[in-house]
Amino acid sequence: MTELSGGPALPQERRVVTAIPGPKSQELQARRLAAVAGGVGSVLPVFTARAGGGVLEDVDGNSLIDFGSGIAVASVGNSAEAVVRRASAQLAAFTHTCFMVTPYEGYVEVCEELAKVTPGDHAKKSALFNSGAEAVENAVKIARAYTKRQAVVVFDHGYHGRTNLTMALTAKNMPYKNGFGPFAPEIYRVPVAYSYRWPTGPENCAAEASAQAIDMISKQIGAENVAAIIIEPILGEGGFIEPAKGFLPAIAQFAKDNGIVFVADEIQTGFCRTGQWFACDDEGVVPDLITTAKGIAGGLPLAAVTGRADIMDAPHSGGLGGTYGGNPVACAAALGSIETMRELDLNAKARRIEEIMKARLAKMAAQHDIIGDIRGRGAMIAVELVKSGTKDPNPQATAALAKACHQEGLMVLTCGTYGNVLRFLPPLVIGEDLLNEGLDIIETALAGL
Ligand SMILES: *Cc1c(COP(=O)(O)O)cnc(C)c1O
Repeated sequence: MTELSGGPALPQERRVVTAIPGPKSQELQARRLAAVAGGVGSVLPVFTARAGGGVLEDVDGNSLIDFGSGIAVASVGNSAEAVVRRASAQLAAFTHTCFMVTPYEGYVEVCEELAKVTPGDHAKKSALFNSGAEAVENAVKIARAYTKRQAVVVFDHGYHGRTNLTMALTAKNMPYKNGFGPFAPEIYRVPVAYSYRWPTGPENCAAEASAQAIDMISKQIGAENVAAIIIEPILGEGGFIEPAKGFLPAIAQFAKDNGIVFVADEIQTGFCRTGQWFACDDEGVVPDLITTAKGIAGGLPLAAVTGRADIMDAPHSGGLGGTYGGNPVACAAALGSIETMRELDLNAKARRIEEIMKARLAKMAAQHDIIGDIRGRGAMIAVELVKSGTKDPNPQATAALAKACHQEGLMVLTCGTYGNVLRFLPPLVIGEDLLNEGLDIIETALAGL
């Protein structure tokens, strides 16, 4: 194991010793199908036994290279040393008091860290929750309390969660919304600057998309009715869409000019994932509120809303909270996770992963015209797959590629409104040998299509 793997002493190697999924996984899958609700899916029904560094070991003894991090969560690697050390000590001390009953230092410390690492040097405060969706819901509550307005603006291809309000904020019908309405009112969706698919070309994308979005907000909703504009600085589930440069600053400026709370949903992009603490840092955009979750606590459930102190203090006392929000063990894990990010300089690691991945993917694109676009930043990289000689989405090839990778012991995920994006979210501590071996598998899978 490399010194970066952090987790249990798992050999940092790919090892395929049975069919994938193997017999023990298949047995567990049969039990799962009988006991677990059918609405809860799995990308690959390989049951995990251990995980750490850049690998997932299954119950059959296979070791898979991990290009998923449990959807951008295990950025510091599974069971990272500092996460285990701090969370274990907290487990032994106490597991829960409820911060709303008797508080504890860990919660305060996480809020202090959030104030330091998030964009902007203004006075900030935070509130902690359990899941990303819960953080987004609370950002809406806070923005409405502060502005005394109701409308919320979101974007094409946006994803914000699966609760009722966040389903309404989410763009894509299947699988997130279909049959689950009615949805929350006062949600409005406007265009985003998706360069690859912008009708008049990428060079016009930022200016035209921001003008269209602002025109729709002004003419159809009325800027004076808008409490919040919520955007992912790189749209995750929607296909790792990086809004064309200039789009985010234009929308942030419009929000500022009109007293609208600008919310960056950095649940997937945050905490070193894109090679910076937050993806907003890339264009110097300072959001009023920022939502975080996924990468924050090395796998333990924790989420936060962080923002301008006056906005955060708008709700009345007792208006925010929840039984488990900011659980002490999750807070300890977050402190261990942030410590690891600093000590191992995981921003630099993420940028190195981008360098390696983009160079190799560019070579593959030169040979395979179904790769329409390569994009993303840091360790959040994707390829958009199209039908040869067109820009027509190619979800069939995407599914076939993912399947071929899984068979060879490489965990990859797909995403995108059209289901045609293969996305890579390796743990930031993955070794370069494993990273390259994973890319070899993708290369072979492409050749075998
Ligand atoms: C995953 C995600 C959410 C929802 O987080 P959960 O913890 O699954 O509720 C919200 N926004 C973005 C951008 C996400 O990637």
